[in-house]
Amino acid sequence: MATCLVTGGAGFLGSHLCDELLRRGHRVICVDNLETGSLANIEHIRVPEFEFLQLDIITPYFVDRPIDFVYHLASPASPIDYLRLPLHTLKVGSQGTHHTLGLAKKHRARFLLASTSEVYGDPQVHPQKETYWGHVNPIGPRGVYDEAKRYAEALTMAYHRQQGVDTAIVRIFNSFGPRMRPHDGRAIPTFLRQALQHRPITVFGSGSQTRSFCYVDDLIRGIIALAESGQHQPINVGNPHEFTLLELAQAVIEVTESRSEIVFEALPTDDPQVRQPDITLARDVLGWEPEVQLRDGLRRTIEQSGMDALVGAGRR
Ligand code: NAD
Repeated sequence: MATCLVTGGAGFLGSHLCDELLRRGHRVICVDNLETGSLANIEHIRVPEFEFLQLDIITPYFVDRPIDFVYHLASPASPIDYLRLPLHTLKVGSQGTHHTLGLAKKHRARFLLASTSEVYGDPQVHPQKETYWGHVNPIGPRGVYDEAKRYAEALTMAYHRQQGVDTAIVRIFNSFGPRMRPHDGRAIPTFLRQALQHRPITVFGSGSQTRSFCYVDDLIRGIIALAESGQHQPINVGNPHEFTLLELAQAVIEVTESRSEIVFEALPTDDPQVRQPDITLARDVLGWEPEVQLRDGLRRTIEQSGMDALVGAGRR
C-alpha cells in the first residue's frame, strides 16, 4: 500500500484518480482549494484511507505524513475557467508546481505532472508526437494556460536534472466522462446538455476542426501506469481516434436520441484546428492504449451521471 497525494483531487480527473487509487488499495491525501472542483465529486468516498485537505497550493504547504507518490493535477483546465482566472492559472502552474515539487523532493516521492496537449498549441505537425515542440501563442488569451503548463514541464525537468527528484510528465489530451461540469464550456458536456434538453447544439466555426476524446477510465489507467513506471520524459496519453466537432455533435445526437439541430457559432481565438495524440510511446513503454470508444464512453457518461448532473439542474 502506497500513500498518494493528489493535488486537484476534487476536480473531474482528480476525483476519478482518487477513486481508482483507493480501489487499488492505496492511501490517498486529496489536496484542493475547490476553485473549479467540488466536494460533490468526493462526497461518496467514506473510507479511513482517504483524507481531504482544503488548501491553496499557490502558498507553500506541508504534509507531515510519509508520501510515496505525488500526482499534481491542480490547475484550472477548461477555457472558461482559465480565461476567468488568468493570473491564478499562471501562479498555480509556476508557484503551485514549485511548492508541489518541493514537497515531493522532501518526501522522496515519485512526482507526476498533469500536463496537456495544449503545450503543442495550434500544431503544425499531425498527429502530435512528444518530440514536437509546439506552436503556442504566448500572448493570446489561452497563453496563460498553455505557457503555465510549458513552464511547469520545464520546472519538473529542472527538479529532475538538478535536484534528483523522480519525476514524470503526462501530456493529457481531451478527456471526458462523469463529473464534467455541464457549463464548463468544453464540447462534450456542452453537447450532452444541449442534446438532452433538445436544444440547438452549438458548434464553433464550421465544425471541421478535429479533436480526439479519451474516456476517463482509460486516461486514469494510463496516468497510474506512467506514475508506476520509471519514465521521466513527457508521454502523451489520449485516444488517437480523431473526430471533427461536427461528427462529435452527430454522435451525441445519436446516443441521446435527441431532436436537437446543429447551429454554428464564431470560432474562439487561437482554437486549435487539429488535435490527435501519437501514442506510440505510451504503447511501447507503458503497454497502454485506450479501450473505450467514443459512443460507448458517451453512453457510460450518461448512465453514470444521471440527467440532473448532465443538464446542470441547480448548479453551474
Ligand atoms: P478540474 O477543473 O475539474 O480540476 C482541477 C482541480 O484543481 C479543481 O478541483 C480545482 O479546485 C483544483 N485547483 C485549482 N487551483 C488550485 C489551487 N491553487 N490549489 C489547490 N487546488 C486547485 O480540471 P480537470 O479536467 O480535472 O483537469 C485536471 C488536470 O488535468 C489539470 O491540470 C488539467 O490541466 C489537466 N488536463 C485535463 C484535460 C481534460 O480533458 N480534462 C486535458 C488536458 C490536461
